[in-house]
Amino acid sequence: MKCVVQGCPGEMEQRQIVHTFVRGGKPIVVEGLPAWVCPVCGYTVLDIQVLDTLFALDPETASPVGQAPVFRLPLPSAV
Ligand SMILES: [Zn+2]
Repeated sequence: MKCVVQGCPGEMEQRQIVHTFVRGGKPIVVEGLPAWVCPVCGYTVLDIQVLDTLFALDPETASPVGQAPVFRLPLPSAV
């Protein structure tokens, strides 16, 4: 599959990625997410089925498979 970014010559590869998002002010980490990634520009595409499953995930009731430390860099806030 060719990269969808205009002018990018990359061929997208199927990879397992780690996705982090914030829900209810808490960071949530999902690993082993199947995605298409462009090795040239890094553009990432998720299947609509994967997205649906991701949105359906309820971190309050689902059992985590692991815990990840959360860090904040000592940089001045950009806000
Ligand atoms: Zn690309």
